[in-house]
Amino acid sequence: MLKKYCYDGSRKLDLKSVPTNSKSDHVDKKAILEKTAENQQKIHQLQDKLYADGREGLIIVLQARDAAGKDSTIKHVLGGINPQGVDVYSFKQPSGAELAHDFLWRFNRSIPQRGKIAIFNRSYYEDVLVVRVHKLYEKYAMPKRCIGKADEFFKKRYGHIVNYEEYLYDNGYRILKIFLNVSKDKQKERFLERIEQPEKNWKFSDSDLAERALWEKYSGAYEDAVNNTATKKAPWYVLPADQKWYTRYLVSKAILEVLTDMDPRYPEMPQGQVDRLQVCKEQLMKEDKKAEK
Ligand code: ATP
Ligand code: MG
Repeated sequence: MLKKYCYDGSRKLDLKSVPTNSKSDHVDKKAILEKTAENQQKIHQLQDKLYADGREGLIIVLQARDAAGKDSTIKHVLGGINPQGVDVYSFKQPSGAELAHDFLWRFNRSIPQRGKIAIFNRSYYEDVLVVRVHKLYEKYAMPKRCIGKADEFFKKRYGHIVNYEEYLYDNGYRILKIFLNVSKDKQKERFLERIEQPEKNWKFSDSDLAERALWEKYSGAYEDAVNNTATKKAPWYVLPADQKWYTRYLVSKAILEVLTDMDPRYPEMPQGQVDRLQVCKEQLMKEDKKAEK
């Protein structure tokens, strides 16, 4: 099921022909909820091993339009994980200091130590999405040779991203890239909920409507981003996001698959240390006997 949503560079993404709900998968909601819970259990076990092992790290890149459910996906799928092993970073509009550096700078500072999982709630992909749709790069304080024409500018950036992800892969990281693909109708429904329910008001901002008006432009930018950066080492998953229960299942499955493939193991103790454990055990047992007397 998940394979259908995976882009690893061997085929092109055309958003118009990709589902935003579970209909075409003919699934049973009850069974899916059970499987999600099972996946979460397995993720927890593997994450514990990953942390103990410390040889490989996992970076989960989450991209989406507004109200596609990034925050709630993080909360529900990874909420139960040992907090010591997971870092969540939300990347908003860059600050002046961030803009004064190369575009990967702020992300590179958030790469986790190996053994950990980092979730990037938005990422360097914004630098080829919002920056492209709003032509923000035109105002960057950079020499002319670095800006040039839009096509060239973004073609280079896709290349930088592919190289960067390969660099991370070669340094012991896996990169799982997820685009939560929500439909325009569902976004409207969720925006209306955010406006109508006082406890959700804080999640809505006027600018969300301005971005919505650029729906088609964002579709094109997402397609180009996926088609130019999907690789075997760092594949994209374009997941239906209209039904949260189904999105959560697919996200849990994608995470479980990559963790399973990473195959983390508890470190093996050298024989000398195993022998030491035995000596320590005997010492502790002796204590008990002394106390009994
Ligand atoms: P929510 O779904 O709750 O609205 P969010 O991720 O949209 O969460 P916001 O604070 O609403 O969070 O928005 C963050 C904004 O920062 C997004 O509109 C995003 O496009 C923008 N942003 C991220 N990176 C950049 C960048 N490099 N340049 C300009 N804008 C950026
Ligand atoms: Mg927003």
